[in-house]
Amino acid sequence: MKYVDEYRDGARARAIAAAIAAEVQPDRSYAFMEFCGGHTHAISRYGIEDLLPANLRMIHGPGCPVCVLPVGRIDHAIGLAARPGVTLCTYADLMRVPASKGASLLKAKAAGADIRMIYSPLDAVRIAETEPQRQVVFFAIGFETTTPPTAVALKLAEAKNLENFSVFCNHVLTPVAMRAILDTPVADGEPPVAIEGFVGPAHVSTIIGMQPYEEFARNDRKPVVIAGFEPLDVMQAILMLVRQVNEQRCEVENQYIRAVTRAGNVTAQALCAEVFEVREDFEWRGLGVLPASALRLRGKYARFDAEQRFAVATVRADDNPACECGAILRGQKKPVECKLFGTVCTPETPMGACMVSSEGACAAHWTYGRFREHQARASAQARTAA
Ligand code: SF4
Repeated sequence: MKYVDEYRDGARARAIAAAIAAEVQPDRSYAFMEFCGGHTHAISRYGIEDLLPANLRMIHGPGCPVCVLPVGRIDHAIGLAARPGVTLCTYADLMRVPASKGASLLKAKAAGADIRMIYSPLDAVRIAETEPQRQVVFFAIGFETTTPPTAVALKLAEAKNLENFSVFCNHVLTPVAMRAILDTPVADGEPPVAIEGFVGPAHVSTIIGMQPYEEFARNDRKPVVIAGFEPLDVMQAILMLVRQVNEQRCEVENQYIRAVTRAGNVTAQALCAEVFEVREDFEWRGLGVLPASALRLRGKYARFDAEQRFAVATVRADDNPACECGAILRGQKKPVECKLFGTVCTPETPMGACMVSSEGACAAHWTYGRFREHQARASAQARTAA
């Protein structure tokens, strides 16, 4: 397949790995965060960590839209779906995310709520059009990548003058989460996260471009290299970060030149600015309540705002106390450091969002199983030492 296989070429991967190994300085360590769940999956799937020198560590970031959604917002969505006459439309990833008191959208559907899995916000518009007797609510989540399609759906609903379509808006902003990762003080008993640079988001950056990351390079002296999702993309971005650190440069560089431009998608940006405005604050799983970190519908579109159309109280609910999703999303722990990982918590029986979502770090670690090889190696080394 052209333009995919080339980015999965083993010989080229080994050549980049050799370049990284040759350029890392042996007397220091390197720690980079890949913000996106898509990069986390590429790293797990293709065994990229096994190709990196021992003194270079990759830290998983909070860039999984399902994972960062707090329990209270899932509870809120279940409350919406429970209302008579309401059809809640959602992406499949959200269905099994644990809500409070053992609930989930899937269980609410089994109990009789009209909850439907869709592939696109336009599916929800279509359902509203064909079933005018139902109040159709689209459960909108995601970073800047999925915000423009929600804006398109709202414009379409407006053009069709649909009275029975609304959006439960949970779109969040990537640069604010990156800022929170850098600024959040370490909680008692948690290890500090010393990040020296970011592998920047791929799809998000196709929309927002390169400029929003410049503050991290300029003010925080943290290099950012925007990377595509294929293994060679990620490895090349890591090499570019190593070079920046070695040369004491702090710049925003673009490895993903086949899709990302400096300005981003200005048409999508204008559309989103027309439809959405920034909320005062928003709660994130793992990062807490962050000011100006999420979007809501502008006044002009208030009639499509599910939070205004339906009076469902916003609830603050706590995660399962044994689940370490918060620390994992902050980059402070790895999935294998959670006591429930692979025992009580698996993709079949998820206890937290990071094990449910296809972009979650726990799901990536479990699905590709590389931790098993590491555990086997560690046990063999311990046996040899004894
Ligand atoms: S393994 Fe399960 S319980 Fe542990 S942090 Fe991940 S999702 Fe939460």
